[in-house]
Amino acid sequence: MSVAVGVVLVVLCGAFVAAPFFRRDGAVLDEETAAPSRWERQKFEAYAAIKEAEFDHETAKLSDADFAALREKYAALAVEAMAALDAARTARQRPGKHAAAINFCPNCGHKTPAQAKFCPGCGRGLGNA
Ligand SMILES: [Zn+2]
Repeated sequence: MSVAVGVVLVVLCGAFVAAPFFRRDGAVLDEETAAPSRWERQKFEAYAAIKEAEFDHETAKLSDADFAALREKYAALAVEAMAALDAARTARQRPGKHAAAINFCPNCGHKTPAQAKFCPGCGRGLGNA
């Protein structure tokens, strides 16, 4: 009986922990969730700002020069955000990406910090220059 309850609890906990990873239109999220959402927001806001500038320009509230400057500024923000989103997506799709969070020395198997240049166990270079 207590074993069955324990199994149910473990399954429920697993589902609870895993749930956030399968939200947002089925996209699998990972440790970079915070970054993409920030860039998504920037992209969205940049597009909205461009739309608004276009509207103001059409209704003659913005001069050609002001409109060009605004559009350039927000287009740059949008491009920056899209590049960041692309990079995050590429990083997510790359197999073994999770190894970046915790690495293991290929020589001795010692756990090494993500950005460590040398293994703390055996001193071997890890190629994270
Ligand atoms: Zn090592």
